[in-house]
Amino acid sequence: AGTQNVNELQAILEKQSTGGSRILVFVRLRPMAKREKEGGSRSCVRIVNRREVYLTEFATENDYLRLKRLRGRHFTFDASFPDLTTQQEVYSTTTAELVEAVLQGRNGSVFCYGATGAGKTYTMLGTVENPGVMVLAIKDLFNKIRQRSCDGNHEVHLSYLEVYNETVRDLLSPGRPLVLREDKQVMDLLLRGNQNRTTEPTRVNETSSRSHAILQVVVEYRVKDASNNVVNRVGKLSLIDLAGSERALATDQRTLRSLEGANINRSLLALSSCINALVEGKKHVPYRNSKLTQLLKDSLGGACNTVMIANISPSNLSFGETQNTLHWADRAKEIRTKAYNANEEILQVPESETDQAKLLLELQKEN
Ligand code: ADP
Ligand code: MG
Repeated sequence: AGTQNVNELQAILEKQSTGGSRILVFVRLRPMAKREKEGGSRSCVRIVNRREVYLTEFATENDYLRLKRLRGRHFTFDASFPDLTTQQEVYSTTTAELVEAVLQGRNGSVFCYGATGAGKTYTMLGTVENPGVMVLAIKDLFNKIRQRSCDGNHEVHLSYLEVYNETVRDLLSPGRPLVLREDKQVMDLLLRGNQNRTTEPTRVNETSSRSHAILQVVVEYRVKDASNNVVNRVGKLSLIDLAGSERALATDQRTLRSLEGANINRSLLALSSCINALVEGKKHVPYRNSKLTQLLKDSLGGACNTVMIANISPSNLSFGETQNTLHWADRAKEIRTKAYNANEEILQVPESETDQAKLLLELQKEN
């Protein structure tokens, strides 16, 4: 069944990158934390099969097996990952195809969405023992480049940025994208970058992150076209660890904190508006409404594969947040990306690395 599922997804992604399709939406359930177990948390989420999630406020495993019809709701996604799913499996199912597409000169983005503590950073960054999507994607990218004959041609540029309170900061701080020669030091680099992320104590979680972290990997190389002109092929992969999606009111009082909360919502809201505008084929896409969408201008819609991973906790204490996340993810399934001509995209020279650096400087000046 697993292989079938993967083939099915590859078909959808293939369609997404050639003929306009919808955004792929995945759900990942994290394991119950020790602290939650000890506190008497019960599980309110069940991954029914590889695609379906069942959410019910008071169900125990036994109740579910006995009754099969507790009050609750089923949601269906492109894939739903149970709590023991490996990092490698999440990467292979959600992101591996996008890495391949980036080498064909297409852009791709993967967003992790969900409440604080739901597993976004674990999914994106992971740990030294269990590296996440960001690290696995870069390793895979370098492996693929090495397998190609003309690998000396490829330049890989990396930037790791934070959007916090509508301010853009470079987490690696060289002020411009880093030229990456090999993938060995990537985990160290990203862990160091992540330590620079703005985290603060809140009531929900000791280190709730109110910041969005964006890793952008640009692969640039020269190819000869049919008329023997040398053209630049550029593909960009954006991997985004979004700020906690819980409402500001649920975490702390008003004042500064809720202002920050409002800004986070503003970025998340702006992200939804842009995607919706792209879906509806609107002429005006409101990228300028937030720093997050300004940075992702060329990584949404158009020549871009988009993947959403909704992270959820199993605990009944997080029922409300999980319900919100699943509703949001369920809506994201309706988003369609526009059709475009693949060849034209390849032959165009998209925003170059220098343009990207310029944009970054511009955004930092505005702060
Ligand atoms: P978020 O970034 O959404 O706030 P984290 O990724 O920091 O949440 O996850 C919260 C805690 O749960 C961390 O201690 C993390 O290591 C753990 N965790 C999250 N997802 C998993 C998983 N799939 N397997 C094991 N531990 C996980
Ligand atoms: Mg986090």
